[in-house]
Amino acid sequence: MTSELAEAVVDLAAVTGNVELIGGATSAAVMAVVKADGFGHGAVPAAMAALAGGATWLGVTSAAEALALREAGITAPVLSWLHGPYTDYAALAAAGIDVSVNTADQLHTLVQALGRAPSTTENDKKVPFLAHVHLKIDTGMSRGGAGTDGWPELVSWARKYEREGALAVRGVWSHLATADTSPIGVAAQAAAFAEAVAWARDAGLRPDLLHLANSAAVFTAPRTHYDLVRAGIAVYGVEPVPGRTFGLRPALTLRSHVTLVKRVPAGTGVGYGHDHVTARPTTLALIPLGFADGVPRAAGGRAEVLLGGVRRPLAGRVAMDQCVVDAGDLDVHPGDPVTVLGPGTHGEPTAADWAAWAGTNPHEILTGIGPRVPRRYARSKERA
Ligand SMILES: *Cc1c(COP(=O)(O)O)cnc(C)c1O
Repeated sequence: MTSELAEAVVDLAAVTGNVELIGGATSAAVMAVVKADGFGHGAVPAAMAALAGGATWLGVTSAAEALALREAGITAPVLSWLHGPYTDYAALAAAGIDVSVNTADQLHTLVQALGRAPSTTENDKKVPFLAHVHLKIDTGMSRGGAGTDGWPELVSWARKYEREGALAVRGVWSHLATADTSPIGVAAQAAAFAEAVAWARDAGLRPDLLHLANSAAVFTAPRTHYDLVRAGIAVYGVEPVPGRTFGLRPALTLRSHVTLVKRVPAGTGVGYGHDHVTARPTTLALIPLGFADGVPRAAGGRAEVLLGGVRRPLAGRVAMDQCVVDAGDLDVHPGDPVTVLGPGTHGEPTAADWAAWAGTNPHEILTGIGPRVPRRYARSKERA
């Protein structure tokens, strides 16, 4: 069935196959990162396909994302890593979600919340839900995580709370800033990480899970793998290191069809501002997808789509809901299929192509596909 205007078809076999490929590249366990609605693919279907491929952990940003996985019946371990002053830690602990902690203050808030948390009953004894925490150290990204000045305090409070039975420290972790570009940067962060881990061990912590690697590091920096790798973009089949291919298969195809065709003479202005003026008589094909659907406005003037089996350029500015393809002398008709992006195997542009045209990364292209585009799920037979 074809949807009314456009659809994003997600090949779940590709997701599963990509996770298998990631698992083959490491001896560590694999966390599939399904934040931002599974990078735009749908968090729950992506999570299930990733678990089928051997992922044993799921990673998300917010509490809401984590709880949505539980509501969908997913029981696999989940780590949620971005929290604010109003995060409901009690709900997370009750749902068995692991929580990342950046500061001692955050730890105090969490422990207080758990004190008010509902409890579970085991052998007729009331037992509070236990929070599993992963202490995050900032090893050089200067984003999340404790700075080196805050780390000793965070570690010693965590150990104290652990002794009291208020929580369990399951992980120590950090995030890489330059895994796709700079081995030197990775080495510096890995060294800082090792130091932070040593400090935690000296303080008496025995975390089961040390984790540092993202997708790019899975394929380029085995020494960062430790116990668990956190793969995001690679799960969805986008090659994480510029200029290198590891055999991943893009899972998402964004397609639509021509809704209107018109033949215009040379000198015809197209779209807002008449940024584009036709150089010769040509056929314009209207596509019902715009920047609200994730076709980046910044790609106007460079972008192409697959129409009638060939690449044709967009003409004029991408509008909110529509864009126009210069079909040249192609014999096109309303209803003809258009592939905006996909794996690239039939000549269609990839998310990486769109990222280059729009001056961004494939992550932003995929997560930018708007809520108006229905996701449909399929399973290809072919293997990477
Ligand atoms: C998004 C994210 C990942 C996944 O990164 P990729 O480069 O997409 O593999 C891993 N860890 C953290 C903390 C993240 O925020």
